[in-house]
Amino acid sequence: MAKVKVGAVVGDRIFTADRAFRPGTVWVEGGLISKVAYGEEGWAGLLGAEGTLDVRGYTLSPGFVDIHTHGCLGFQYDGADERSLAEIESFMPGKGVTTLLPTVVPAPPGKMASAIAGLAKYIRGSAYGVMKGINVEGPFVNPDYKGALPKEHLLSPSREVMKDIVASGGGLVRLMTVAPELPGAYGLIEEFGRGEGKVRFSIGHTSCAYDGAMGAFASGIAHSTHLFNAMRGIHHREPGLAGAVLDCGECTAEIIGDGVHIHPAIVRLTVGRKGAEMVAMVSDSVSHAFTEGKGAPDGMVIGEAAYLPSGVLAGSVVSLGEILKNLIGWGFAAEDALTMLSATPAKAAGLVGVGSICEGMAADMVALDAGMRAAVTMVGGAVLHDAR
Ligand SMILES: [Zn+2]
Repeated sequence: MAKVKVGAVVGDRIFTADRAFRPGTVWVEGGLISKVAYGEEGWAGLLGAEGTLDVRGYTLSPGFVDIHTHGCLGFQYDGADERSLAEIESFMPGKGVTTLLPTVVPAPPGKMASAIAGLAKYIRGSAYGVMKGINVEGPFVNPDYKGALPKEHLLSPSREVMKDIVASGGGLVRLMTVAPELPGAYGLIEEFGRGEGKVRFSIGHTSCAYDGAMGAFASGIAHSTHLFNAMRGIHHREPGLAGAVLDCGECTAEIIGDGVHIHPAIVRLTVGRKGAEMVAMVSDSVSHAFTEGKGAPDGMVIGEAAYLPSGVLAGSVVSLGEILKNLIGWGFAAEDALTMLSATPAKAAGLVGVGSICEGMAADMVALDAGMRAAVTMVGGAVLHDAR
């Protein structure tokens, strides 16, 4: 893989951390953004110089951050070999995605731990740097709200299993979905979810009603897994978890933005209520994504979503790149759409070094053309995609 290292990026429409679009220069050093200056000052000396990337005519956005994805290109993250993982990491920058949290699903405990250990080993040695942690969806979730998760591998909260999961990740398990109504869930949240570098728990695949959800927020849970999916919907006398998340200003929400899992009107209502700073777009993509029908495992794909043979929705077949186009089509302003693809998911997963263009952040950026397609994508200041 020949990587072009960038020293400075010159652009006339840089999406800044304060959610404006400005002309300016972004300097890169050691994989990080070392300085951002607005205005056209200094451009004369930089344009045409070696190491300068000129993206005038494009929108320069923070790279997209997908914190909930199960695979694509025919591969599922659980148990994928290193070649498959590298293939995904080299493919996703073409969609504007610069951060992925591969998401594993419940399996027998030993198998789940070894899938996590395999991912962690790959991530530590990766030359791409797109995968930056691991998301674990279960196994301590409610079988009544399993969605497409395998019921036979769902467990009651267990300290031993949790210890194994955390140890296998070696600090890379960033997020875990839990159903707080299960006996022992709060013990896990207390022990494994507090303090720096700990797991961030997300509420999901749960039977929680409004009061239970409010109790979970009070315990420190500040994120919700694919809002509206695999949870109670809103009723005017029992707002459910969905109503609680809308009502609670502190809890970020994931939205699967494929246009199938959630109606665009509900996406607009959610963002209208919570603001783009609290709503993280996720793909929840499965291995069928971008296979063009080849090598897709069991189940079926209709439009932008995948289904189990039983007809249950089982994730999407899109990336955040397609979701950006959906959001614009649904009437969202570019600044809101880009925030929901970058800064908000980074915040929701506690990824402090990515998600915005400002000093000290990873130099993960994407230059988008007028059709909002990724024209050039950098990860850690290295160009991994250039379609100009
Ligand atoms: Zn999922």
